[in-house]
Amino acid sequence: METIAMEQLKGALTSELQNLQLENRWLESRLAKQDRQAPDIMDRATAESSEHLARLKYARNQQKMNSIQRALETMSHGAYGLCQLCGESIGQNRLLALPDTELCIDCQSTLDHS
Ligand SMILES: [Zn+2]
Repeated sequence: METIAMEQLKGALTSELQNLQLENRWLESRLAKQDRQAPDIMDRATAESSEHLARLKYARNQQKMNSIQRALETMSHGAYGLCQLCGESIGQNRLLALPDTELCIDCQSTLDHS
């Protein structure tokens, strides 16, 4: 992979990681402040469902951050862009679209259809 593209991907991953960290910090503080004692049952139901959504979002962000961190690590080892299953190099276009992917398109579609 060309150095320029690599730098670009690294920048994109790093800023996405920062956004996710900010968002999760915000979600954490929102969840901590969640009002479970709302007197109205409808308010309580709304609070519960938005809490549920916030937790889902938080967990998804956490997974994404882990995967971005793994991608940044493989970049520092120089092993970035290799499929974790077959070891072939992942196409540059795929990496530009999904910088934290760990699978080539073939392995991904095999997984998706299994
Ligand atoms: Zn593969």
